[in-house]
Parts: sequence; structure tokens; C-alpha cells
Amino acid sequence: MQSEDIAEFREMEWFGRRIKESRYTLSEHALRFMVAGKISVKDIESVLLTGRVLEEYRNPMRVTSYLVYGAAGEKDVHIVCANGGNNWLIILFAYVPVLPVWSSPTQRRNRGEETMTEHVGACFFCGGALEEIVAGNYDYRHEGKMYVIKRLPVTLCTQCSEKYIRAEVGKNIDRLIDEKTFSGTETVHVVNYELEKDLML
Ligand SMILES: [Zn+2]
Repeated sequence: MQSEDIAEFREMEWFGRRIKESRYTLSEHALRFMVAGKISVKDIESVLLTGRVLEEYRNPMRVTSYLVYGAAGEKDVHIVCANGGNNWLIILFAYVPVLPVWSSPTQRRNRGEETMTEHVGACFFCGGALEEIVAGNYDYRHEGKMYVIKRLPVTLCTQCSEKYIRAEVGKNIDRLIDEKTFSGTETVHVVNYELEKDLML
């Protein structure tokens, strides 16, 4: 057994223990993937109980984070997580690995094969390729009110779905809201978690 294999085993054991004790937190980024129905809490738990460490990200400014690969049902899932402090596991993000970054769930695509015309850089959070798209719906909160911006130009991470908005577009959104340039209204469903959670027990 190689030394990396021994280190990998210990990390997965540590993650597994945290999962079994529910001693973990989810970042908003991971939560958004859940709300979109792409990855569930159950998927994350099963990957961290049965998967393996693919990559280690060492950073002098913070603790080492780990990319864990595993299968959740039919899906291949990547989870980036770390010891968030006090031995709590923090799930930083979760995504389904895809081209152009991953040629298979465990193999990064050879950089030489990349077609640079499609992307303008790399995602700050996961290193995935970025692409300019027009988003159908973008939820935006402004002074306590919720707005849905339709047909918004954004830079999308093709891997983890993080969206980036250029400064001028952000300013335009604020101006359009200030000027009440609305094309319609939509119903928003509100859940009061604190009030409702006890009914689920
Ligand atoms: Zn990303």
C-alpha cells in the first residue's frame, strides 16, 4: 500500500464518522445545488460514506480541502469538503463532474485538448471552465424584496453552476429595479422553517 493510500483511508474514515454523527454543515453553494434538485443531502452522505479522495487542495491561508468522488445511485458526484473547525465537517460544494473539465468522473481532461474559444477563464470556487450564457431566471434580493430577472447575461461555471455577473450588468439590475421596469409578477412560496420544523418530527 502506498503512503497516499493510507492518508486517503484516514480522511475517508474521518468524513464517514462526521456523516454518521450529522456533525457537518452545508455551504450555501451546496444548498443551491440541492434546491435545484441536482444533488440531495442523501447523495452527499452516501458519497462521503463510500467514496474516495481524488485530490487534495493545500492552501497556506486555510485548511486543506479534499475532493471526494463517489457514486450516488446512477450519478457520479464530486464533493469538496474540509475540517471547518472544532472537528465539524464543512461541505463546500457538490457537483456532477462534466466536460470540459472532466473527461471521466476520475480523470481531468488533458489541458491540451481544451477549446479555449468557449471559455473565458476558470471558476474561482471549483476551477471549472466558464461560459457566457443568458440565464432564463435569476433570483435577486434587493432591500428585502425578491426579484426574478429573466434573460440575464451571466458567466456560468459549466461544472458547479456558480454564476458570475459583470459589474455593469449588476448596476443595470439595480437601476431597472429602482425605475420599477417590471414585466410581470410571480408567486413565491415562503416556508418558515422555525415554525414548521416541529411538525415534521
Ligand atoms: Zn465552479
